[in-house]
Amino acid sequence: MYDIAIIGAGPAGLTAGIYGKRANKKVIAFEKLTAGGQIINTSKINNYPVTPGITGPEFGQALSKQAEDLGVEIEYSEVAHIDNNHDYFSIVTEDGNYTAKTIIIATGTEPRKLGLEHEDEFTGKGISYCATCDGAFYKDKVVAVNGGGNSALHEALYLSDIASKVYLIHRRDEFRASDDIVEKVKAKENIELVFGANITELAGDKKLSSITLDTGRTLEIDGLFVSIGRIPNASKLIDDLTIVDDDYVDAGEDCKTNISGVFVAGDVREKELRQLVTATSDGAIAATAAIKYISANS
Ligand code: NAP
Repeated sequence: MYDIAIIGAGPAGLTAGIYGKRANKKVIAFEKLTAGGQIINTSKINNYPVTPGITGPEFGQALSKQAEDLGVEIEYSEVAHIDNNHDYFSIVTEDGNYTAKTIIIATGTEPRKLGLEHEDEFTGKGISYCATCDGAFYKDKVVAVNGGGNSALHEALYLSDIASKVYLIHRRDEFRASDDIVEKVKAKENIELVFGANITELAGDKKLSSITLDTGRTLEIDGLFVSIGRIPNASKLIDDLTIVDDDYVDAGEDCKTNISGVFVAGDVREKELRQLVTATSDGAIAATAAIKYISANS
């Protein structure tokens, strides 16, 4: 039986793993995609202490290596469900079942979709949710980014160095991004700001070739990068977990959920500021709480 089972090997989960191993606990982290989490899709990290300019993949790889070198086991499979047996938990995955004394949910979030007809069909064929992953396919082409938050503006800036033209489409006439990035976007000659517009139609033959806006305008584009926020999906993991808003796990800064022995860390927790630094902070707090819980219950 593991002492701590972490669901999600992003910055929050892997930091929890590091703290768990440093307290000599038996730790496993489950990851359905790539260890490192969402941060590996970030081009440059400039707001985390000590390593300005480090790329997301570099950060993710270094963090995974640090965790694995300490002895965190990373199991690459999707967790279907966690059963609460009250003095321990059973973790059901597609590749087998595991048991643990405590659980740390660090599943992060996934991209919010537009919900339009043909969106799934054109995903990977003109529609992407990650500029650093797919931007290179659009060298000297015309692309659009949808969204008005920090992520969308970062995506637009990144793409403006690759594509010939970037339309940045936002439903309001004011961004919700930091002033410095807004200024950088406004200074880019090949970014056209399209305010007060929603995408209503995706069109193309086998691959996306144009989008229509509710302003009546149609844009001929080679690629669309959707960056309209992210959504968590934690409620299905374990019965009776208290969730709030759009499926975020309800827990305070102590990272304790309503279920004894279950902790939560990172973007999936209901909180004010979702950043790398708050994710790693949560990981440390959740692991420390799990370690105390194990001592108190053994
Ligand atoms: P976000 O801040 O929630 O922004 C989402 C954007 O998408 C908003 O502009 C929103 O419009 C728009 N939107 C939402 N639903 C939409 C829909 N159905 N159709 C059209 N537009 C829609 O999300 P995010 O940019 O992914 O950022 C997530 C968190 O990470 C934020 O806290 C952000 O500050 C942080 N972050 C920080 C950095 C950094 O370098 N500091 C970088 C990336 C992300 P409205 O504005 O009209 O609501």
